[in-house]
Amino acid sequence: MESGPGKRRRFEVNGIVQGVGFRPFVYRLAVGLGLKGFIRNTASGVLIEVQGPTETIDDFSMRLRTEGPPLSRIETISDTVLPPGEEQDFSIGASGPGAEIETLIPPDIALCGDCRRELFDPTDRRYRYPFINCTNCGPRYTIVGRLPYDRPFTSMHGFAMCPACEREYHDPLDRRFHAQPNACPVCGPAALLCDATGEKVNVPDAVAAAAAMLHEGKILALKGVGGFHLAVDAANDAAVRRLRERKGREAKPFAVMMGDLETVSKLCELSALESEALTSPEAPIVLLRRKDTGGLSPEVAPGNDRLGVMLPYSPLHALLSADAPEVLVMTSANFSEEPIVSDNGEVFSRLSGIADAFLVHDRPIYRKCDDSVAVELSGKLRQIRRSRGFVPVPVFLRDGGPVVLGTGGELKNTFALLKGTHALLSQHIGDMKNYEALKHFEHTTEHLQHLFQVRPELIVHDLHPGHMTTRWAMEQEVPLLAVQHHHAHLASCLAENREDGPAIGLMLDGTGYGTDGTIWGGEVLIGDENGAERFACFEPMPIAGGETAIMQPWRLALGYLRRCRPDLPSLPFMDGRPVGPVLELLQRGTHVYETSSCGRLFDAVAALSGLRGEISFEGQAAIELMHAAGGSAGTEAFPHGLRKENGRWLMLVSSIFGAAAESVLLGMTVREISRMFHRSLVNLFLDITAKASEASGLKTVALSGGVFQNALLFETLAGELERVGYRVLSHSLVPSNDGGLSLGQAVIGRSFLAGRYIGVC
Ligand code: ZN
Ligand code: ZN
Ligand code: FE
Repeated sequence: MESGPGKRRRFEVNGIVQGVGFRPFVYRLAVGLGLKGFIRNTASGVLIEVQGPTETIDDFSMRLRTEGPPLSRIETISDTVLPPGEEQDFSIGASGPGAEIETLIPPDIALCGDCRRELFDPTDRRYRYPFINCTNCGPRYTIVGRLPYDRPFTSMHGFAMCPACEREYHDPLDRRFHAQPNACPVCGPAALLCDATGEKVNVPDAVAAAAAMLHEGKILALKGVGGFHLAVDAANDAAVRRLRERKGREAKPFAVMMGDLETVSKLCELSALESEALTSPEAPIVLLRRKDTGGLSPEVAPGNDRLGVMLPYSPLHALLSADAPEVLVMTSANFSEEPIVSDNGEVFSRLSGIADAFLVHDRPIYRKCDDSVAVELSGKLRQIRRSRGFVPVPVFLRDGGPVVLGTGGELKNTFALLKGTHALLSQHIGDMKNYEALKHFEHTTEHLQHLFQVRPELIVHDLHPGHMTTRWAMEQEVPLLAVQHHHAHLASCLAENREDGPAIGLMLDGTGYGTDGTIWGGEVLIGDENGAERFACFEPMPIAGGETAIMQPWRLALGYLRRCRPDLPSLPFMDGRPVGPVLELLQRGTHVYETSSCGRLFDAVAALSGLRGEISFEGQAAIELMHAAGGSAGTEAFPHGLRKENGRWLMLVSSIFGAAAESVLLGMTVREISRMFHRSLVNLFLDITAKASEASGLKTVALSGGVFQNALLFETLAGELERVGYRVLSHSLVPSNDGGLSLGQAVIGRSFLAGRYIGVC
């Protein structure tokens, strides 16, 4: 046994190591090993000094790297040998200078295993307590009002801890050491059941009573972590229909909550990665392939081969799920793309007439935060909506630079604040089309700037002059930059992959304002964050009737057909439609605009093939068209073509669409048409990529835009590109849809400030 003071070493740890239980972890580790020394927070992480026998310190060093708390993320560790010190024990020191300012606010974290055990343990003092939490779990981001991250500045400020909770909070060896939302039935928030009018219902156990109502087919408004959900028994067809009717949501799929993985695997295919995602601390909704209906109402996710599934992530959800029907519809309580409802007062007025009962509680939600949504594609988990559980954890950039705010797109809005090498993305704000969304956007930008103590040097907004975010940006007294939509998509993909580029970018989506004032959406850009060349685009096609046409894909199909088949053969999709007036519009050219959109092409083909002439939400026809292919793009394709015009390649929509129309005339099935259409696009993109590669010498291809949420197109195309030798960059940390746009905008903003920005030509 070594005697004397032993060796002393200093470890400086950077990364996400504050507010995630890292200091208690190190304390327990060091005390357990009999080491002396201290740990304290610093501006960018923690500083640890330990003293003891060499082997013990080696053991400490190894376990420091491998056994950290679930939410910690170590980026770097420096390790220095020091002369021995004088301590008699190991202590948690006061924070060093600057520590307050850099402290990262953790995201909201799903119920941990330890708390779950206590929750269902009749001997535990928190048995069936819906607000149980600890250092490893519980609400964080959604309860923070302002800095510093301390209980008085959270929505827990109204709850004084009882002596038992207080003891846990101050004991470094306790799992609840410095857990800000620590609470128990004696001192903490309580759940409350109210009837349809908002009157309190007196029941001994609000959660059990709410579960009983769900068994009866009632619609329950349920206050969660980042806002309210509407819940209903997913197996009760009448109840699900009633929810659709009352919410005015015709067909958009509902997400569901199931109690455990075992239940999930009965209804859905489940890979190791998907199981891991469902049970992760972030607990997103994961879009899973359905095995069969499993007795669920067909109204849950009509026309969709995937089901959005999540596990109970708060103790309230876990309790409810244990007593309620096996599968619950859980849909955000909001109105047609407005932000999620989060306030008790608001919920009674806004959801009256929808909910039969309200399961609420008295812990305020300071930040609205929707559930996150992810999907596994090509063996990787991809964000579709990066929100609760992820925000405000940064996306790590390769390079630092000035503070820039990217305001995001109009649909599925998020914004991004760049600070050093951290890209801080906001939660999902929603579609920027109403006053509520703008308010949510304003509050959240203000809040994140406060949390991270930054003010942007530059605000980047979309090139579209009419967007709400553009108008908002104009009102700020900060220099501005307008950035083209698809350029931002490209830069976003490069940034999350920590790549400089240049790359060949296949940017495929529904709508983005082009530098020529037309609507783009099927673009091949070659470039990087500094600028890009519009190397190719889809052949422009007419849309008659603006916004209406987008919700009525049969109008798109008619316009496309007229363009490629002027003889206008009569096809079944025209039956019963007011074809004449639309043709007249197209003829006169009034209310007609041209677009190179890829999303609209999907819609038009879906309508042409007789699948769907009208939609009730964006992407509906495209999703159903993909679904119709039955998981394969087959081998046959329609002929495609490329034509060079004014120095730019046009990807000829007319040859594909014309051939598809011919197939409909020949009586080909929707399944065959869908397969051939997908295969044609893959062939077309391979061809244009080859041309772009030849012209530029590049072998790296970046894929971005909402169309890449199409699993069939994405997996087939990415696979083929790799097979012929390209390096493929795609999204996983941020969405490929417009939810990831703000990251690209902000990165382009830094290029502008550095004097490198050229734009799109
Ligand atoms: Zn816990
Ligand atoms: Zn207590
Ligand atoms: Fe887009």
